Amino acid sequence: MSEGVKELQSYVGGKWLGGRGKPATLVNPATGETLATTSTEGIDMAAALTFARAAGAELRQMTFSERGQMLRGMSRAIHAHRDELIALAVANAGNTRSDAKFDVDGASGTLAAYADLASQLGDSRILVDGEAIQLGRGARLFGQHFFVPREGVAVHINAFNFPAWGLAEKAAVALLAGVPVVSKPATSTALLSHRLVEILIAEKLLPVGAFSFLAGSTGDLLDHMEGQDVLAFTGSSDTGIKLRGGKSVLAHSVRVNVEADSLNAAVLGPDGEEGSEVLNMFIGDVFRDMTQKTGQKCTAIRRVYVPRARVPAVVDLLRERLFAVKVGDPAREEVTMGPLATMQQLKDVREGVGRLASSARVILGNATEVTAIGGTEKGAFMSPVLLHGDKPDPRDAVHQHEVFGPVATVMPYEGDVGSVAALVRAGGGGLVSSVYSDDKTFVKELVLAIAPYHGRVTVNSSKISGQAIPPGTVLPQLVHGGPGRAGGGEELGGRRGLSFYMQRVAIQGDRAFVEAMSDKS
Ligand code: NAP
Repeated sequence: MSEGVKELQSYVGGKWLGGRGKPATLVNPATGETLATTSTEGIDMAAALTFARAAGAELRQMTFSERGQMLRGMSRAIHAHRDELIALAVANAGNTRSDAKFDVDGASGTLAAYADLASQLGDSRILVDGEAIQLGRGARLFGQHFFVPREGVAVHINAFNFPAWGLAEKAAVALLAGVPVVSKPATSTALLSHRLVEILIAEKLLPVGAFSFLAGSTGDLLDHMEGQDVLAFTGSSDTGIKLRGGKSVLAHSVRVNVEADSLNAAVLGPDGEEGSEVLNMFIGDVFRDMTQKTGQKCTAIRRVYVPRARVPAVVDLLRERLFAVKVGDPAREEVTMGPLATMQQLKDVREGVGRLASSARVILGNATEVTAIGGTEKGAFMSPVLLHGDKPDPRDAVHQHEVFGPVATVMPYEGDVGSVAALVRAGGGGLVSSVYSDDKTFVKELVLAIAPYHGRVTVNSSKISGQAIPPGTVLPQLVHGGPGRAGGGEELGGRRGLSFYMQRVAIQGDRAFVEAMSDKS
């Protein structure tokens, strides 16, 4: 093993521990260079969970404000090490500096947002849910709903694409709710998550046991989950299905949240003529989502719907932007799009483009040939690929299969809301879709038609052009998740996110007692 290859350890039971056996390897996806190895084999997962569960008592003793101060400290610590963390994302995840900032600043920003929410929740430890309800004919018997922290542990399993934000957005909500965390990043890009946790632990920002970290496989961890525990997973649908069906998960009714695949759509309204503000926003968002993080964003636009007459103009505008993309080693300043995160990812994306090509034509880029700046032949490089499907049908691969890379498909619709809504809905449930139009009637009808199939819909009109937040940016204030293919989960959404980690309980009894409960405990 060459010098400088780090051996990652896991942080469980209040200690850093290495695993034994054959380790997994973490590489630089631009060069193929090995950066680190890791193994969790031999770690006693049952003991790790027991230790973490016990830390819940201290967290539950803290008020929301106190937990918020802890989150504020975590946010500041990440920010203080920003440059170091960004460099790790460039080296291990194929991120350009700008991609890496999106991840690292997303982590500190989400923790800060939940710290702000904690200040609003104040000095209580439980949440009041709605109004008290008179139950009898007289004014004595009342009921009131509350949320109380669960007494288990939150197991967080994350995808490879956001090693910092993914860890932090889940941890922020669980810790604010008063629930200890066992966090597991995807192994391939775990270098950044590992360093981030090293920083948090070294700064002693959390009660011992409140945060554990597995640098690699979960082994038999999930077999030891119990009824007060929760499992939050982000990754592919296939893994989500497997984890949901785990024996202990089923036997103990472990609460599960799944964030999975999503075929996010962008729809240009009939008024999106050349030179219009809405068309500019539309092109900007499609281009950003194809290239930011090399298209490896769960919220990235995959399906691009355009009124038939405007397809040529949209394709020309995208072509112009995509031609200027410089693919290569993100350590080089001139590079604007890095490699995919792994060679496996490259293989999957190439195969995915092949599937899409069964009902669409590649009109820009090439899934197998690319000129990369820097890097080596071991780099997982790919050019952006734009496809055009002239006769979209809900059964087409583009409505069924997520290609997790710099790939999108432009498709026409015939101008009416019904036809484009049917195509968007054919994605089977998504995280976010976006509409670009100043035509209020069109927008309202379309939003209502697609809303049941999404966790979030962004409406982009010229009125908000200067301040619009791209659909691909997940906000701590708004829910993240979606029905059906997207996993049926829901995270974040400000205070709403807390409910996953807390038990809603109705307390029924004498009015004075119930009201006194609301005054916190
Ligand atoms: P993945 O292969 O499903 O892996 C996701 C995570 O699950 C990784 O940490 C992986 O660990 C772990 N894992 C895999 N098999 C497991 C098992 N049997 N038991 C316990 N853990 C297991 O997905 P991925 O390739 O990392 O991520 C890409 C996918 O994630 C895309 O489909 C994308 O749409 C989705 N995604 C969704 C969101 C969202 O918010 N909805 C966000 C990002 C990504 P190892 O790495 O150690 O195998």
